[in-house]
Amino acid sequence: MRPSLSNKPYFFVRNSRIHGRGVFAAKNIAKGTRVTEYVGERISHAEADRRHGGKADDDNHTFLFTVTSRSVIDGGNGGNDARWINHSCDPNCESVIEKSRVFVEAVRDIPKGEELCYDYMIERDPNDPPGMDQVFGCRCGAANCRGTMLVDPAPPARKAKAKSKTKAKTKTKTKAKAKAKTKAKTKTKAKAKAKVKTKVSAGKPSRR
Ligand SMILES: [Zn+2]
Repeated sequence: MRPSLSNKPYFFVRNSRIHGRGVFAAKNIAKGTRVTEYVGERISHAEADRRHGGKADDDNHTFLFTVTSRSVIDGGNGGNDARWINHSCDPNCESVIEKSRVFVEAVRDIPKGEELCYDYMIERDPNDPPGMDQVFGCRCGAANCRGTMLVDPAPPARKAKAKSKTKAKTKTKTKAKAKAKTKAKTKTKAKAKAKVKTKVSAGKPSRR
């Protein structure tokens, strides 16, 4: 599939089978295409907690995207259509963090009309109350659906690697499957959609 030469936008927003509104390919999108950037107000984790910590425990609806250990993007404030992209356990896109900006890129060729998704990979936290897997339940419908948007935290090996406090980008990681060909590659894969301490917030917005 060749990248389209038209200037037509890559996607449009409409209701999704997965959840609420979703983002769909407006034309064929080639693997590797940078589809959009996840934008919004840049806030601290403390501010994210303050904004969304008061919500009921079973409410996971926010537009927060964790960028680093220090910053979160609130797509609910100054955000774009990227905030409507749903989670899938078998996604056709991935989120990529580059110089503290978040981009959504196609990981395979996506035919026109298909819903765009990426794996939110929200990390479980030892302090999570019970039932968090259900609060963040997944209905993506993929054959390999794990039933939740949560994942176990990165293995200790990775943390050991990121020992140097000053240097470590503690909150980003390179996906295991990523080709480690070029070490110097500055691109790191976005690990998580919204891992806010209170865990009441995640990628998906609230809407009916
Ligand atoms: Zn799923």
